Amino acid sequence: MDAGANTNPDAGLAALERVDMSDLLTRIERQVRPLCRRGQVASYIPALARVSPDKFGMAICIAGGGEYVVGDGDEPFSIQSVSKLFNLAFALEEIGEDIWGRVGREPSGMSFNSLILLEQENGVPRNPLINPGAIVVTDALLSRQPDWAEAFLGRMRQAAEAPGLAFDEEVFASEERHGDLNRATAWFLKAKGNLINHPDAALGAYFRHCSAAMSCRELARAGRFLIGPSEGEEICRSPHQRRRICAVMRTCGLYDAAGDFAYRVGLPAKSGVGGGVLAVSPGRYSVCVWSPALDVKGNSVAGVEALALLTDALEGAS
Ligand code: GLN
Repeated sequence: MDAGANTNPDAGLAALERVDMSDLLTRIERQVRPLCRRGQVASYIPALARVSPDKFGMAICIAGGGEYVVGDGDEPFSIQSVSKLFNLAFALEEIGEDIWGRVGREPSGMSFNSLILLEQENGVPRNPLINPGAIVVTDALLSRQPDWAEAFLGRMRQAAEAPGLAFDEEVFASEERHGDLNRATAWFLKAKGNLINHPDAALGAYFRHCSAAMSCRELARAGRFLIGPSEGEEICRSPHQRRRICAVMRTCGLYDAAGDFAYRVGLPAKSGVGGGVLAVSPGRYSVCVWSPALDVKGNSVAGVEALALLTDALEGAS
């Protein structure tokens, strides 16, 4: 493999096949477990605060087949904002490029729920992976399909090969009860003419897809579509769109920590306040990690470190 031609920090697929992946994931788990109590479990959605910070799971799906899972990688957790990337993929499929008329694709450099830029930029959210942008994307999908939340779940069940996948009703009710900031966002979007449905309806669907409960294995499977053209056929078949989704993930997937994450890990990724991070190495693998304790920007402390260790280790395997 010509390392110079490889713009990705990881080894090529052939080199990846020589790696003892079970052993690597076990070593990573051992190294990051001590970090699990370093951050804070999200508490602004009270139902999330009940999750133990001692959970840690990781799952990787290799291009062409092969799946490795460690720790609590089969335990469902609240996917929260990881859902935003799937929603974007579904919107590109259903609506196409027109979605970009309502939402931008620039990093915001602000927290995921900030309203500052939304006011300055007249109700057009910076990107689809922060709350205002995701609410707009959900609204657009809801306009096409009134039962969008159920349809979302159906698509995720298929992509994750998980027929039992469900919403966590307690998390949903908890976020709905404590979702005033998102409510303010939706009403602001409505006032600026960038919300078609009633704010309660758009938020209902948004809270629902955030409340989907999935394991690392299921999310890594659902993320296979981002590996490349012949992977994960259930979502967004166009290679062109898949590449573009990865571009948005790289620049916006970890909010105002996207630059630091790019430096440390170097993969397109999407995080959520449930402590999950889904990342992809195009052409090679999709990987999901879960550890509920978050840093101040809302990203999993142990999860990001685990991904940094993974890419460091695979870099050396070429
Ligand atoms: N449902 C959460 C919210 O709207 C998602 C945030 C996140 O995961 N960063 O605040």
